[in-house]
Amino acid sequence: MTSLPMIPVDPDAAAARRASLPPRHLADLDLAGRQALLAEIGEPAFRARQISTHYFGRLVRDPALMTDLPAAARERLTGTLLPRLLTPVRELACDDGATRKALWRLHDGSLVESVLMGYQDRVTVCISSQAGCGMACPFCATGQAGLTRNLSTAEIVDQAVYLAGVAASGVVAGSPARLSHVVFMGMGEPLANYSRVVAAIRRLTAPAPEGLGLSQRHITVSTVGLVPAIRRLASEDLSVTLALSLHAPDDELRDELVPVNQRWKVAEVLDAAWDYAARTGRRVSIEYAMIRDVNDQPWRADLLGRLLAGRLAHVNLIPLNPTPGSRWDASPKPVEREFVRRLRAAGVSTTVRDTRGREIDGACGQLAAAEGEKDEATA
Ligand code: SAH
Repeated sequence: MTSLPMIPVDPDAAAARRASLPPRHLADLDLAGRQALLAEIGEPAFRARQISTHYFGRLVRDPALMTDLPAAARERLTGTLLPRLLTPVRELACDDGATRKALWRLHDGSLVESVLMGYQDRVTVCISSQAGCGMACPFCATGQAGLTRNLSTAEIVDQAVYLAGVAASGVVAGSPARLSHVVFMGMGEPLANYSRVVAAIRRLTAPAPEGLGLSQRHITVSTVGLVPAIRRLASEDLSVTLALSLHAPDDELRDELVPVNQRWKVAEVLDAAWDYAARTGRRVSIEYAMIRDVNDQPWRADLLGRLLAGRLAHVNLIPLNPTPGSRWDASPKPVEREFVRRLRAAGVSTTVRDTRGREIDGACGQLAAAEGEKDEATA
């Protein structure tokens, strides 16, 4: 018999709440909040709009470049609204520069990672919502180390703004210079840091200078399936895409692969997903890591096909990225092809995700702060 890992009693774990949050940053606040903050330090409120335009509109954060601000006040203004949240520790590139991973140190020493992926028609960043993760999925590198803390709204937003600046510098050859898509598929469980993630989505999608001006439809929130939070997200009046990390169509296996399934079963989580699709009109993305001889049997493809047929859903199969020390491996290609064939035969739209960033440990499920720490120590 398999022994099941413990699941956290409260997804917003008490330890994560107690951990120290970083200094306040303009991306934590709406424009009115930024203006109020400047008023508190005796600066004119209109400076909030100027600084927000630099940060969100021009992707500029260096006070020396903010020539529309009085030189004497620049440091004070940026010190108040733009404290440094992310210190780049390393940047790695692969796929001819089209995939770039950034490792950041936060104010308390925590390490998180983000990935920039350039395609012909778009630029996507994959961002982290927590330092570590408390969901304990046994095939995921981040899940092994546990949760350190929630990220603040601005720590989440700043990853995207920073990498938008990298894209704008033109280093991603053959891709548009403008960031268009954001996926919450980095470290952490976004719906366990609910209010900050929703505020981050609002900042990322508000037009400049309030925010970064991305389309809500180009934002994807990926979750292990925290049912009450999915239902709450459905009521936010946001049209972001929901990705559900299903990984197994049956409770027996899902209890092991995604331990939170011990609390919310496959039927319940799919029910919440269909309600989300109905309320938002958005197709739900069903994430399924293909793990050799674990979840890739033809009967599981058929069962998955029956669960999803006729629903507003798309299956995204992810060849497993084996994590160090794991006993699991990716499914062989013929097995993967048969899985795809059976899902499509059931009328379910299915694609296999490309495996960007493998060489730099920047691929799905490979983002782990502990890795960064180790690499850094030996650098
Ligand atoms: N906590 C969220 C988002 C982070 S992970 C979630 O679980 O959805 C983003 C996706 O990568 C999830 O579908 C996750 O299950 C998947 N993933 C994690 N580890 C992986 C691995 N080793 N190989 C392939 N996919 C993995």
